[in-house]
Amino acid sequence: MTQEPELVPPLTDNYSSMVLLIDDQIMVCEAVRRALANEPDISLHFCTDPLRAMTVADEVKPTVILQDLVMPGVDGLHLVREYRKHASTRAVPVIVLSSKEDPATKGEAFAAGANDYLVKLPDRIELIARIRYHTRAYLDHVQRDAAYRALRESQRQLISANLELERLTRIDGLTGLGNRRYFDEYLAAEWKRAFRAQSPLSLLMIDADNFKRYNDTYGHMAGDEVLKQIARVIQSGSGRSTDLAARYGGEEFVVVLVDTLLEQSSAIAERLVQGVRELNIPHGPDRVTISVGVATAVPTADETPNDFVNAADLALFRAKSGGRNRVAVHMSRS
Ligand code: GH3
Ligand code: MG
Ligand code: MG
Repeated sequence: MTQEPELVPPLTDNYSSMVLLIDDQIMVCEAVRRALANEPDISLHFCTDPLRAMTVADEVKPTVILQDLVMPGVDGLHLVREYRKHASTRAVPVIVLSSKEDPATKGEAFAAGANDYLVKLPDRIELIARIRYHTRAYLDHVQRDAAYRALRESQRQLISANLELERLTRIDGLTGLGNRRYFDEYLAAEWKRAFRAQSPLSLLMIDADNFKRYNDTYGHMAGDEVLKQIARVIQSGSGRSTDLAARYGGEEFVVVLVDTLLEQSSAIAERLVQGVRELNIPHGPDRVTISVGVATAVPTADETPNDFVNAADLALFRAKSGGRNRVAVHMSRS
């Protein structure tokens, strides 16, 4: 069954005015009240105690303030300046009500931050027109401000989403370690830095032992879980923030150790081998283990990061052929 669409009149005007009148003379308040009485879009709140002006403004949230200049004990211009200082009233239009048409007073009022100037008692039509005009300007301003803030917020979110994307391009999805691409970049950069500083750089090349057999026995999914656990050991084993642990590919991992000598990096490698063994993950007759090849170099002009990786790889090969579940080191020429 189809229904006639309800005819909703378009929202043409959403600009209701809330006028706050600060004037010590009850007579003026009464006159303004009467002038605005027949305007459904204009509400009036008046306050005859100028000392309460700020508090009332905070409560009433006016779209326009009508401000008397001469009151006992308080200078109206002082109040105008106060409105401009406070966050809640800073942008609220202020129409100054003066008892005289005087250029000097007018100048002072505008200098204090007033937006308009009317001589008491203002003509009804003019008063209404100005109230509507200032309300409209104020509400537009508030709306623009909110839109601007929303825009800024969405820009901020975009930036952080981009940073997150950028981070993800460096992360290995399975293990959360650095990925191969990031490792390549990192090693190239650290190699250059170590060359300039002539400081030692170490590389651990790590490979899970007999891992094909693990997958064949327990399944690829179980294999993935083991790789995650090995990754955690590797991550926690390389302590410094300048160290990088990454997944080189498959069941192979690498650790770049900045400013680290062979002795220290071998000790770290030993800890990793032990750490994985202590996971006590059953594998065939024994448990899951890793082999680690260690290379340390002070970079020279005729060597490349690739040579360095090959050196660590060679050491890894020796760890494998030496019986696995162990560390082997490669001695560089330096
Ligand atoms: P070795 O001790 O000589 O390293 O023996 P291996 O079986 O580990 O060596 P090989 O290179 O022959 O096989 C590596 C195996 O690692 C092959 C594959 O089944 C497994 N592998 C590689 N990448 C992944 C992976 O992302 N997840 C899982 N579950 N297994 C992987
Ligand atoms: Mg391998
Ligand atoms: Mg392997």
